[in-house]
Amino acid sequence: MKNSVVNHLVKLVTFSCGHNRVGRVGMMVGANKVLDLTAAGKYHGSLPTRGVDMVHLIENQSSETISILKSLLEKDEFLESDLRPLESINLLPPINLPRRNVICVGKNYMDHVAEVAAVHAAKAAANGEAGATPPPLELPKYAQFFTKAPQTVVPHGANVESHSNITKILDYEAELAVVIGKKGRDISSADAMKYVFGYTIANDITSRDLQKKHNQWFKGKSLDTTCPLGPCIVPASQLDASDLAIKMWINGEKRQDSRTSNMIFKVSDIIEQLSAGFTLYPGDVILTGTPHGVGFAMKPPQVLKAGDLMEVEIEHIGRLVNKVV
Ligand code: MG
Repeated sequence: MKNSVVNHLVKLVTFSCGHNRVGRVGMMVGANKVLDLTAAGKYHGSLPTRGVDMVHLIENQSSETISILKSLLEKDEFLESDLRPLESINLLPPINLPRRNVICVGKNYMDHVAEVAAVHAAKAAANGEAGATPPPLELPKYAQFFTKAPQTVVPHGANVESHSNITKILDYEAELAVVIGKKGRDISSADAMKYVFGYTIANDITSRDLQKKHNQWFKGKSLDTTCPLGPCIVPASQLDASDLAIKMWINGEKRQDSRTSNMIFKVSDIIEQLSAGFTLYPGDVILTGTPHGVGFAMKPPQVLKAGDLMEVEIEHIGRLVNKVV
């Protein structure tokens, strides 16, 4: 049966059915249906006929798998009985439980660096301290890395805890997430894209007061449920992510609106610096930083509170929606 809505971009999701918590890989067909890749085996002999998880698919993927999936989407000859409506399945994070910490890049958009510097300068001025007039901003030479625990990762649609008993300044950060496809170390910027499997969307939710109080970022970045990820991975062979619109809405109000081309360190630079003496593995997730428009830099500052609806959108990938509870 022909589907009326056809999107020829391969979008891979991880999902489960019923009470089964084991995630398996599916491909979006149109906006609202998912083809279980177990069923895809009947459409092409080279595709898996047994359930696989996303990291297994990535480790064993070839560009051939993705091009077969793309050709299936273009033919659009799926049996309706093989397509599961989105509302009948549980979407999981595309990398369901990362094997290692989620690696993040801080301060990677100049306008975000400027808004953070302005907040600190205003505080210093109010306190009559030195630093009220910040020095002119210079482009950093080295990326700033930190991590979030794997267990912080939650899917599209999941609730995010406000943690209001331990933090008063919870904030959002819309980010492009890179999924590594191949093991590698000491990767040059020129070779870096060969190591990228694909892209998804992340919301790097941050407790600003814990970040400051503990004088190190891990605590403020690793509260439970603070890494919404998804809804899908678009393979890098299908999408050039170097200039995509990235936006964030809170309760329908647009707060962030930028393009990935405004990153200080491009994806290839990030991989070169990160992989120097440090092995990257298939399924590793790297968040690439957030543009300006975060809540704590607004006038007056805004914080996330229970009931807030967060929507992050990256062009051609999709929209990641989560509610604070
Ligand atoms: Mg961030």
